[in-house]
Amino acid sequence: MNREKTVAKKRKVKYALVCGAGGFIGGHLVQRLKNEGFIVTGADLKKHEFNKTAADRFFVGNLTDPKFVNKVFDQKYDEVYQLAADMGGAGYIFTGENDSNIMTNSALINLNVLRKAVETKVGKIFYSSSACIYPEYNQLDPNNPKLSEESAYPAAPDSEYGWEKLFSERLFLAYHRNFGLEVRIARFHNIFGPQGTWRGGREKAPAAMCRKVAESKEGGVIEIWGDGKQTRSFLYVDECLEGVRRLMDSDFTGPVNIGSEEMVTINELAELVMKIANKKVKLKHIKGPLGVRGRTSDNKLIKKKLGWKPTTKLEDGLRETYSWISAQLEKAAK
Ligand code: NAD
Repeated sequence: MNREKTVAKKRKVKYALVCGAGGFIGGHLVQRLKNEGFIVTGADLKKHEFNKTAADRFFVGNLTDPKFVNKVFDQKYDEVYQLAADMGGAGYIFTGENDSNIMTNSALINLNVLRKAVETKVGKIFYSSSACIYPEYNQLDPNNPKLSEESAYPAAPDSEYGWEKLFSERLFLAYHRNFGLEVRIARFHNIFGPQGTWRGGREKAPAAMCRKVAESKEGGVIEIWGDGKQTRSFLYVDECLEGVRRLMDSDFTGPVNIGSEEMVTINELAELVMKIANKKVKLKHIKGPLGVRGRTSDNKLIKKKLGWKPTTKLEDGLRETYSWISAQLEKAAK
């Protein structure tokens, strides 16, 4: 046993593995777990794009490859966070062009990780599902979407990404049932914040909006997909992590929503970013991949089960994100 492990054992330090540690939420989660005193191993296809990782160990490799997954599970973890997925914003998920990759890669990752989680007897495993599992038929009215947890069935997600997430939720639950694996499942709803993809096609609406406004001159024009009347809610990443950690520490398996109930239209999101930037730009509505008409989190279950729900205001989270993206743009321009 090496020195680090001996010290950890004495102090009852916990070992965590974050799959997807090179990504947006995974990167923040590694930092949070380190702050809480965990010894953290990260695994991802790539190192974190924007930060030096806070993880104690970091494996770079492909989690669809069982041999790589064997290598990552070289010790017993108290907690595993499975966040790795082939994903992106609407421009990646809704065009249809990436469907087979999305389904194959993400399902393989989950199958491989679950196999090793059982084999190595991990303490608990967290799975990040998505609001995209909810049926399209409940999200047609922008002012009245229905996304309570039990409304997931009869299933009718509007993307293959959503179908894979639903399949993998069931996979995690089956491993819980059949192997006694301690599983926790959350359905994330549009998480945003600094240190996430902000350009290149996989970025989500808040990052894209911040970038477009930051790049634009006063009175300039920015493009918005669709009529901008589709509604969404967005959750700041720190709140997401708070929810994840509370869920992991609870006895509740889930699935449970982790999202915001502050619903805005995409046009309103643009107005908010303009207010933060102190800049007025015109919106040009163009054709583009859209997703459902209305979506927001329903936080009744999380409140009931964990006695907590996220409360950070969208504007406050956007302020942090805008200032980070502006700094990235300045860096890129140098
Ligand atoms: P992200 O794309 O930044 O992170 C995912 C990470 O997984 C990436 O770093 C990627 O390199 C890694 N990955 C992908 N395929 C891999 C493979 N084959 N082997 C190893 N690593 C691989 O995304 P994120 O926003 O941080 O999301 C994290 C998780 O939360 C994902 O499972 C995502 O589906 C889920 N989720 C996110 C949101 C959101 O709004 N960000 C909403 C719902 C669900």
